[in-house]
Amino acid sequence: MEVLSKLASHDFGELHLKYDKATQLKAIVAIHDSRLGPALGGCRFIEYDTEGAAITDALRLARGMTYKAALAGLAHGGGKSVIIRPKQRFDRVALFRAFGAFIRDLRGHYITAEDSGTGLEDMEIIRQVTTHVTGIDPSHGGSGDPSPFTALGVRRGIEACVKFKLGKDSLKSVHVAVQGVGHVGYFLCKELHAAGATITVADVDKLKSERAKREFGAAIVDIDKVAEVQCDVFAPCALGAGLNDSTIPHLQAPIVAGAANNQLAEPRHGDDLHARGILYAPDYAINAGGLVNVAQEVKGYDAKLSRENTLKIYDTIMDICERSKRLNAPTHKVADMIVEQKLAAVPRA
Ligand code: NAD
Repeated sequence: MEVLSKLASHDFGELHLKYDKATQLKAIVAIHDSRLGPALGGCRFIEYDTEGAAITDALRLARGMTYKAALAGLAHGGGKSVIIRPKQRFDRVALFRAFGAFIRDLRGHYITAEDSGTGLEDMEIIRQVTTHVTGIDPSHGGSGDPSPFTALGVRRGIEACVKFKLGKDSLKSVHVAVQGVGHVGYFLCKELHAAGATITVADVDKLKSERAKREFGAAIVDIDKVAEVQCDVFAPCALGAGLNDSTIPHLQAPIVAGAANNQLAEPRHGDDLHARGILYAPDYAINAGGLVNVAQEVKGYDAKLSRENTLKIYDTIMDICERSKRLNAPTHKVADMIVEQKLAAVPRA
């Protein structure tokens, strides 16, 4: 693998690698851009077929974090870390302690958090070694589960889209189809229900759909039908790449606004949505609430401030909608443009 060329193609940045003989830790920290502040981003702990695939994943994700933090107005750059999950038996505590030492040695240049395969317990282990970790237990001054804040931001983003596209000031009787009612999807349904919206849900896990039905009066549809529901807003809150050649022609909603990361299978699918007159809330703009919350933890956790800053996602989405209309440009390109202008205004060291 041509690592430096790979960095160049992702517009990087720094790449830090660590191998720890005692624990067999193989870890990567990718720092895409730190012009706005120390890089902040989660730590993945999953299996990879090759080390090259792990590096590529870290680079791709770190770049996304730069864009998310910058658009949310945070004084943070974008970073991401990966611990390659060993295929053989391993000592989880020792592994995460060794990872903590790796983060400590970066002296605050990168701050870690939860991501796929890691949880609060892992962050607590890292905390024993370094302070450059977020998403720790509230009893230790941490911000805990980010999902309610992500959901709050998504609800605000949906409100902005509904105002812009449908001219409505509230979500009362607005019909939202939520794809995936896991951590964020569940809290989003709670927000929507409180705002008087009509909800349809789909989840591969029937128990989760049933819970949304019981608690929020949601209608349930099959997972392969949720993108086709006749509704006002389609809210992807499951996996990435859900907006693709197979789904876009069947969408009935005039708005797509949800929490999932990397919703567009390819950037051209954002162009397709624009061409069809469907308003798409760029994923990294609308789902930044969890990041806003952990960024607050870096400064000293204050749930009230986190909430206030998350509510600003309404203005961010409204700004993107207005510029998109003015420029007749797809919203995902408008969001990227706003970030790139912000970054260009800060000289590289
Ligand atoms: P989660 O795993 O708790 O929930 C995902 C849900 O989607 C699960 O209930 C799962 O059963 C369901 N699902 C999987 N495939 C599905 C399918 N084909 N159709 C319908 N449902 C399906 O994850 P989460 O933390 O709620 O995150 C959801 C999405 O939001 C992810 O893309 C994540 O990257 C993104 N996100 C989450 C946060 C956060 O704070 N947790 C922040 C930003 C972005």
